Amino acid sequence: MTTTSYAHVTDPEHLVVDQEPLPEPGAAQVVVRIRYTGICGTDVHGFQSPSFLPAAVFGHEWTGTVVATGADVRGVEVGQRVVASVGPACGSCAHCVAGFTDTCELAFQEANGIDPAAPPHGAFAEHVVVDQRRVQPVLDGLTDEQAGLVEPTAVTFHAVRRAGQRLGAVVVVQGAGPIGLLTAQHARHAGARVVVVVEPNPARRATATALGFADVLEPGEAFRARLDELTAGRGADVLYECTGAPALLQPSAELVRRGGVLALLGYPLTGSEVSYGDWQSRQLTVVGSLAYTHDDFVGAMGAIVSGAVDVDALHTSTVGLGDLGRVLAELGSGSTTETKVLVDPAR
Ligand SMILES: [Zn+2]
Ligand SMILES: [Zn+2]
Repeated sequence: MTTTSYAHVTDPEHLVVDQEPLPEPGAAQVVVRIRYTGICGTDVHGFQSPSFLPAAVFGHEWTGTVVATGADVRGVEVGQRVVASVGPACGSCAHCVAGFTDTCELAFQEANGIDPAAPPHGAFAEHVVVDQRRVQPVLDGLTDEQAGLVEPTAVTFHAVRRAGQRLGAVVVVQGAGPIGLLTAQHARHAGARVVVVVEPNPARRATATALGFADVLEPGEAFRARLDELTAGRGADVLYECTGAPALLQPSAELVRRGGVLALLGYPLTGSEVSYGDWQSRQLTVVGSLAYTHDDFVGAMGAIVSGAVDVDALHTSTVGLGDLGRVLAELGSGSTTETKVLVDPAR
């Protein structure tokens, strides 16, 4: 019997690579041979606290080639390169029936690995078996490495669209990890007059500078002075919070001008005290953003192909499944020099 490998976390900070029989697809399923899976902050949380994460989400940023399809699968063929996605609005859940197709319950569940067809493990694996809804063809012109970076590009594309950023906006991107670096590029593509990137880690600031951002600063006085200079002291039109640090929530809001937008991308693991009255009296618009819709993947892939978003600059190394535990521990240490690590299960 042919077997295939997959990694899973059995206990906090304890990763095991196991074998399973190479699965057969169900009628609506496809089997994907994984080419690359990106490591994300969510995976690091899952490594540290496995109970936090649905199993299918551990390794959710993947690309690969379809190697088998179920009897009812149409429009996806063996040999096709695909990326992990969510399906289009299902048309039959309570949200879709009410016309709120952008918040389809099934697509939400798929994005969070809790849909009825969610696989028993994620894509830190040689193969995954998923519902055909969960794959989209890779746009021509994308390399395999770029395809491995589409998922976080879609997350950030979704957030910048949701923020309703206006042409000519003064934008602050807080945090220059992968999500911040991608958000900054989408914000520039969306017509920001200036994008100020604020980040304490010098290696990450250097990446932002290499991506062509002129205003890349560490948190503190010089950053505040630059923002005041750009806005005559009003504050940012839009601030994208990409760190998820709960203690930064209220200070972030205070960098936004009266009537501006506070867009939340970083996911906080605890509650946070904020000044509700400040947000109310300054009429802030707070935009929450999580995951994506099906069409965000088309937009994200197009942004990479057109050159508006450079994902290659984010890709710092590639490792095999055998090195995954070590890399997750390093990424969780807080002192990493990596930006985006891809896992190649064939290594
Ligand atoms: Zn992710
Ligand atoms: Zn639906």
